[in-house]
Amino acid sequence: MAPLSLPPFSSSAMDGFALQGVSGRAGTSLTVVGESLAGHPYAGTLSAGECIRITTGAPVPDGADTVIIQENCERDGKAVTLMASVETGANIRQPGHDVHKGETVCSRGRPLSPFAIGWLAACGITDVDVVERPRVAIFSTGDELAAPGEPLTDGQIYDANRFAVMALLEGLPVRVTDLGILPDDPARIEQALSDAARTHELILTSGGVSVGDADYVRDIVQRLGRIELWRLNLKPGKPLAFGTVGTSLFIGLPGNPVSTIVTCLLVAKPLILRLAGAEPSAPRYHRARLMERIEHTAGREEFQRGVIQRQETTTWVHVSGDQSSNRLATFSGADCLIRIPKTAGDLAEGSEVDVLPLYGLSDAF
Ligand code: AMP
Ligand code: MG
Repeated sequence: MAPLSLPPFSSSAMDGFALQGVSGRAGTSLTVVGESLAGHPYAGTLSAGECIRITTGAPVPDGADTVIIQENCERDGKAVTLMASVETGANIRQPGHDVHKGETVCSRGRPLSPFAIGWLAACGITDVDVVERPRVAIFSTGDELAAPGEPLTDGQIYDANRFAVMALLEGLPVRVTDLGILPDDPARIEQALSDAARTHELILTSGGVSVGDADYVRDIVQRLGRIELWRLNLKPGKPLAFGTVGTSLFIGLPGNPVSTIVTCLLVAKPLILRLAGAEPSAPRYHRARLMERIEHTAGREEFQRGVIQRQETTTWVHVSGDQSSNRLATFSGADCLIRIPKTAGDLAEGSEVDVLPLYGLSDAF
């Protein structure tokens, strides 16, 4: 709640001269009796026929109710002649123009954005109650994974997901613990998940939640806690698992890097914001027209990586090449996700689609 009105006093919106509105006709000459500069108010009271020099943000003195901009005045020593008429009350910011004392500045459930922080500071507020940033544990899983920087042995690939997920969470109100790579070893996975659950509000893993022989993660979560949901009607991202381990929530992101990234943005991010105290909010889609046909079989909602192109008043979008869920290259040059509704069949060139801009998608606001 604002402890004071902003501005706290009647102030000038422009650089010029403060006067009494009744004398604001073109051709009138007034005597300059002083000045009110930002931070240095004029202490006196204006009388008829008088004006003061005033700058933007400076207090309007008693007796004055109008400011005329300096461009509309001619000054000669102590005399100012108005070259244009000015309406009474012009160029004055009334107290409370920005916020009135007692009004809400920031409300529960909203992120403490840079804009909110600026407004809180403007109100002189130094302390606010906030929800603590949730602690999020991040694992990659898979015997085939090596950390970037290590040599690759036969059959190994580098762990991409942990780094992508950590980077995606950077703009969010979280405290991340990087817990490295877990091998496809049930005992090791069980131990690591139960340890992490004790000190985190959310565990994010990638890989090991599909139907392969070495996909142990889901069974282990089921044993340690509960699997509430497995498999989304979503492409990419179908094998996602959601559940609990002790008091911690658990999301098993799919292993294919594109699936990991897309579900991290569409599923993990909203959950993290909820844990951080935010009210739920719908994704902010924009509308765009397809520059090319997209083939789609009705039945599953799909998100393809796309490139937006603005032409005059129309926003166009095209896909960023082969959309296989292992190809991180689909993000190269992409700046949005194109949503293909579950019920849609093939989408014709020129048809309208929803797009989610990728940049900003991993921010809290
Ligand atoms: P999974 O569901 O564990 O079988 O993983 C599906 C695919 O994603 C496999 O080809 C994995 O090698 C690959 N994959 C899993 N985790 C990662 C990771 N952290 N970085 C890169 N690729 C991964
Ligand atoms: Mg695996």
